[in-house]
Amino acid sequence: MTQNSGALHISKRVLLFLWLTCHLFVLSVNSFADDTKASLTTVTLTPQEESFLQNHPVITLGSDLSWQPLVTANPDGSISGYDADILQRINQLTGANFSLVVGDWIDMQTKAKAHDIDGLSTSAIIPERTSYLTFTNPYLTLQTSLFVSRGNPLSIKNFDDLKGKTLAIQKANQSDVELAKQFKHSTILYMDTLEELLSALSTGEVDATFGNAATLYLANKLGMPYLQAAFHLPQQLDLVFGIRKDWPEAVSILNKGLSLLTTHEKLRIQTYWFSDQSQADTIKENKALTLSNNEQLIVNNAPLRLCVAPNWLPFSSINSDGNYQGVTADIMSLIAERLDTKFILTPTSAWRESVDLIKHKKCDFITTITPTRQREEFLTFTQPVFTSPIVLATRLDQFFLPDLTSVGNKPIGIMKNSGIKVLIKNQYPNLNIIDVSSIQAGLALLSEQKIFGYIDSLEVIAHYVNKEHYINIKISSTLPMDLNLAIGVRKDWPQWPPLLNKAIQNISNEEIQQIRHRWIGIKYDEPIDYKVISIIITILGVLVFLVIYRYRVIAKYNTKLEDLNQKLAKQASTDQLTQLPNRYLLDQETLRVIAASQRYQEPFSAVLFDLDYFKKINDKYGHQVGDDVLIQVTQEMSHSIRDTDILGRWGGEEFLLVCPKTTLDGAIKLAEKIRIHIEQHHFIEGRKITLSAGVAEFNANENYHSLLKRLDDALYVAKNSGRNTVSTSKIETTETV
Ligand code: GH3
Ligand code: MG
Ligand code: MG
Repeated sequence: MTQNSGALHISKRVLLFLWLTCHLFVLSVNSFADDTKASLTTVTLTPQEESFLQNHPVITLGSDLSWQPLVTANPDGSISGYDADILQRINQLTGANFSLVVGDWIDMQTKAKAHDIDGLSTSAIIPERTSYLTFTNPYLTLQTSLFVSRGNPLSIKNFDDLKGKTLAIQKANQSDVELAKQFKHSTILYMDTLEELLSALSTGEVDATFGNAATLYLANKLGMPYLQAAFHLPQQLDLVFGIRKDWPEAVSILNKGLSLLTTHEKLRIQTYWFSDQSQADTIKENKALTLSNNEQLIVNNAPLRLCVAPNWLPFSSINSDGNYQGVTADIMSLIAERLDTKFILTPTSAWRESVDLIKHKKCDFITTITPTRQREEFLTFTQPVFTSPIVLATRLDQFFLPDLTSVGNKPIGIMKNSGIKVLIKNQYPNLNIIDVSSIQAGLALLSEQKIFGYIDSLEVIAHYVNKEHYINIKISSTLPMDLNLAIGVRKDWPQWPPLLNKAIQNISNEEIQQIRHRWIGIKYDEPIDYKVISIIITILGVLVFLVIYRYRVIAKYNTKLEDLNQKLAKQASTDQLTQLPNRYLLDQETLRVIAASQRYQEPFSAVLFDLDYFKKINDKYGHQVGDDVLIQVTQEMSHSIRDTDILGRWGGEEFLLVCPKTTLDGAIKLAEKIRIHIEQHHFIEGRKITLSAGVAEFNANENYHSLLKRLDDALYVAKNSGRNTVSTSKIETTETV
């Protein structure tokens, strides 16, 4: 037997194969803790079994070389293979000597029937054989799968997808011929050899075939690795040992031996035989590190139990088949390859569960973990294996946020128990953090506007936004810290982190790049510099921010400008001292009143007031007092008129009052009322203020100019009549003008 320490070799080329292998074997479940027991303990045999072995020092089982890699012949004539290794372990455990012979399969069955040999290896439980054989428990179960061409070009995923497709099977394979009968809507092509079948698959002549792990093995061995499992069929092939009916002791001894073989041990043997060994050896020479004896001892201390983040793609996830996948899964495979060992996944359904397990030493390693001080209480960390920018995602309608501090008290979702939360809390203690149980939950809350933002790694957010088709979520801001993903090792295993670091340092940039492409490459085809992406996001953000800022500033100025224009317009028509309409507006308003009066044939009158001897007021009390008097006079006048009347400053100490729908008599009365009111009002202590007024009613045949002229004339009359008087310009007078 050439198998070395039984270590699992993982190479990139056979990674897919191994992955398939894991799927294709269905194993009885034993605990890994049994491993030590298996290597130290031997089977307890009954006296009958003991004496049986004494009487039968060699028990010969027949097989056929067409069952590679279960049975394979070495150049020196010896026989090895999966069956040989299983029998060798049973021999070690029981003290028996089961031995293999190979030949034509039909011939072997005849010999078994005739007791020329003692039974069969690589047998299925076939009713016809039960007449002369007793079967052991299965030593291997092969899952039958539907195989398609590499890459699954037709995306065949279930039975329905095979409608109208062409299936190829080997004529001689009776069970496949039987199975093919179920595929009534597919065309079945019968082929003589596997080579023929594989080349038909690779050229697209046929679309699918049946097979199991052995089919894959042979395909690789033939140099035609064109197969890929598309989905599992309900059929499984149980392989058993068949022993001549009169030797029940041999059956019980085999079953006792099989019961002591652990899953772990079987898996090692399977992996060894079902992966392409020559390839594995080459890779091993290239990749495995040379370890010191001490280091080798550490590595050999299997099992190495691994806990992972079960729900954090593209970094880490446990898929529906229970397999570990993602960036860190691939990195762990490379580390296993470097150290020539294997990590055994301890499945969990939540990150918290994984952390709890390693806290209680039920796991030895945990991946995809951010080193924090709190975690240092129970873990030692390796150097980071992957670094990722931490970003804030918001809804699409949010403005770019230059800094997390500008978020204020708005709720931000972060995965609970995550290293990111610790990092963020340290840096932004006032942030209103909402715990979410998973990234999916966080993004859902964000999309439904129940939280303002969600913080996680750029790649993780990008992955799930993409996967769940969120069209209303965007990355608003990159935070000024990176997420370092390391491997955490249980604290009482201090010898491990340096060893893991040695393996991590041995992983090339190219290998990391390949992993990146495999898991994150969907989005970024080129090797990406995240710093550049952060800078681009920041620049874009700043630009958006500036545009919005500018828009807001302009809008603000526009409002100001409007106010200003209104003010200017008001200023242009208002007298600054008295706040009455100025001459310009008075003109406009009076022309409007004239038009209305002409149109509706309604009367209107106007009064021109002039303060008497006002120059003296200024002279005596000063200009400022004069101003105050002007203001007060207009206020008093304003109180005396109707809302519809228009009072304006005509100039200096002169005011024009336009009274729509008012006859001359009405206007005279109003003017007189104002004159008396002003005369009686106390503006300045010990000094009367009086005014003179000229009144006129608009004549439908005249114009504004002539009306003003008549008002001026009337005022002149009032002044000449001793002031503090109201004079009238009669229409007759005007008519004479
Ligand atoms: P009269 O009775 O003949 O109207 O005498 P008067 O002094 O009122 O007339 P005059 O036209 O000789 O003088 C007008 C005065 O009104 C001159 C000026 O000092 C004063 N005045 C005009 N506008 C203002 C103003 O805005 N503020 C002040 N304080 N005085 C003004
Ligand atoms: Mg005057
Ligand atoms: Mg005057």
